[in-house]
Amino acid sequence: MKIAFIGLGNMGGGMAANLVKAGHEVHAFDLSPDALARAADNGCATHTSVREAVQGAEAVVSMLPNGAIVDSVYGADVIGQAPQTALLLDCSTIDVATARKVAAAASTAGYAMVDAPVSGGIAAANGGTLTFMVGGDDAAFARAEAILAAMGKTVIHAGGSGAGQAAKICNNMILGATMIATCEAFAMAQKLGLDPQVFYDISSKASGQSWSMTSYCPLPGVGPQSPADNDYQGGFAAALMLKDLKLAVAAARDAGSQVPMGARAEELYEAFAAAGNGGLDFSAIIRTL
Ligand code: NAD
Repeated sequence: MKIAFIGLGNMGGGMAANLVKAGHEVHAFDLSPDALARAADNGCATHTSVREAVQGAEAVVSMLPNGAIVDSVYGADVIGQAPQTALLLDCSTIDVATARKVAAAASTAGYAMVDAPVSGGIAAANGGTLTFMVGGDDAAFARAEAILAAMGKTVIHAGGSGAGQAAKICNNMILGATMIATCEAFAMAQKLGLDPQVFYDISSKASGQSWSMTSYCPLPGVGPQSPADNDYQGGFAAALMLKDLKLAVAAARDAGSQVPMGARAEELYEAFAAAGNGGLDFSAIIRTL
């Protein structure tokens, strides 16, 4: 299949390479010459603009930084430029309202579009093991599934347009809040004289258990290997967690939903990033407790 891929950064670079490995003809564009050069090394055809990359495409995949960029790229250079038969898939993490607005504009112009944000970081993007949460109608999901399966291990239909983004930010709001709660508990357990490994052995099998504890323990040397064991390098940057929490809190405001824990997690990650820690893995917030 001829697929245009827009946004070949940390995530998109590996995803485009996996589409090539699956036998697709990938036409890539990124504003960064370095990102484009890496895409060429990975077997993509490179282009000098979005408009050029989407010519003749059967599908367009994007992995861009934020909603404003997604809106402007689709509005100016994809809708009306790609063939109307092309399926449009935005895999970026953006706000629900913009995802719905862009999909509605695409639909008015005769295109099928899905929002398909991912769970999993750079390693999962490179390894083709992402989880995709997909928003769109049944027909668009059926077309999207095979394309996304070449870049991930799980593809889930979350509901109509915007539902993928809604699932993503609700999930990451749980993640941000449970990570802080887990960090607090480990810090307090030690102050109360508990051995952290003993506390892990108890809580990981008791009702305090969560993914933040058993798959991504914020304390070095406890639980499975995690960024804590690598001085909080790599993993999921605190700045990206803050971005997702801001999206979640804004969506809650729009929906009239009460999210006191999510809002507090946003405040704490805001302060953590403002202190110069945005590039550290998000579990490093334990250092502030
Ligand atoms: P990134 O900054 O590494 O990559 C974004 C790329 O988009 C860059 O190469 C940039 O040059 C390009 N770009 C920006 N504007 C453009 C335009 N107008 N036209 C073409 N290219 C343009 O970011 P990333 O880490 O790859 O994240 C991409 C998306 O994936 C974000 O929405 C992020 O929230 C989401 N995400 C990231 C992770 C992660 O661990 N990094 C995990 C899950 C989801």
